[in-house]
Amino acid sequence: MRLVSYKDGRAAQLLDGDRVALLTDSMRTVIERWARDGTLPFPAPGEAVPLGDIELGLPLADPSKIIAAPVNYRDHQIEMNVDAQVGALGFFLKAPSSLLYPGGTIELPYRDRRFDQEGELAVVIGRTASKVSECDALEYVFGYTGLLDITMRGGEDRSTRKSFDTFTPMGPVLVTADEFGDPGAVELRCWVNDELRQQATTADLIWDVAKLISYASSVATLYPGDIVTTGTPAGVGPIEAGDEIRLELSGLGIPLTANVAADSTVACPTSGRNRSPGLTRRSLRTRE
Ligand code: MN
Repeated sequence: MRLVSYKDGRAAQLLDGDRVALLTDSMRTVIERWARDGTLPFPAPGEAVPLGDIELGLPLADPSKIIAAPVNYRDHQIEMNVDAQVGALGFFLKAPSSLLYPGGTIELPYRDRRFDQEGELAVVIGRTASKVSECDALEYVFGYTGLLDITMRGGEDRSTRKSFDTFTPMGPVLVTADEFGDPGAVELRCWVNDELRQQATTADLIWDVAKLISYASSVATLYPGDIVTTGTPAGVGPIEAGDEIRLELSGLGIPLTANVAADSTVACPTSGRNRSPGLTRRSLRTRE
């Protein structure tokens, strides 16, 4: 089933022909039902409405946590010029308050720092998962969606650099795991304006979705609605006010877009600008 949420949080089914049929009061209700008995709701009686007539919201607005994979593609490890990848680093957390509805505006906070786009495939957890094996891990997945892990480059902690308000656009479509198919065969493309910056397949993930979930669940209990985002391939680059970012993932159907603004920037109060992890001084100069 292909699912979307209205801006007010109601969950709906995206039908063929880009019409939308209301399902229930929230995506969390849909996920809880699936966790309980493995079923999905039927659309409520009534007319389906054209997709263009509704404002889409976050497919799920209230995860207890957003778990994110650092350096999970080798080509991204090379462009970042870092020794460590996911197998050495584990995961980091993005604040759920950084979530941004699809088509929303990313607000850059500082005038003197670099901010990049990172297009990623994200997993929505459907059942409580603690210490699950790689073999069983995909049984805990409710579905998949698109996510932009907007990032300040530099030496501050990842959880700071990636947790600014508006730094996690997500959605608009959430495709259930049964319909989505193999999460290891997803084509990812990410544009900034007309520039295709990222083009990759999730077949190249260093830790695949099952391994990420298994590992994450060995550290922290994953709850229904939690997000696990899989990391970004090569092609990250600076974004600035006026840019439009567009992320396409095969199997999702509708791209995730976000605009960029810098309407109330200040000088950055922390000093990580030229420290690793992140790009070296030389590559920072090259990119800027
Ligand atoms: Mn990322």
